[in-house]
Amino acid sequence: MRAAVLDGAHRALADIDDALAAMRLGHYTRCRGCAGSIPAALLRAIPRTRLCPTCHATGTDPGSR
Ligand SMILES: [Zn+2]
Repeated sequence: MRAAVLDGAHRALADIDDALAAMRLGHYTRCRGCAGSIPAALLRAIPRTRLCPTCHATGTDPGSR
């Protein structure tokens, strides 16, 4: 149980690091799957998301670990 919580926390921190790196590089609002725009409302709701709704629905994530 504790290991699962720690694993989830590590994954969340890695996602946040990815989002911060994308902000620094200026492509925070670009989808990692199709390079389209990620809607601002989605970024406000889930700031660490890297996929647009379409790619999220189809499971397209070339950078997933
Ligand atoms: Zn996309």
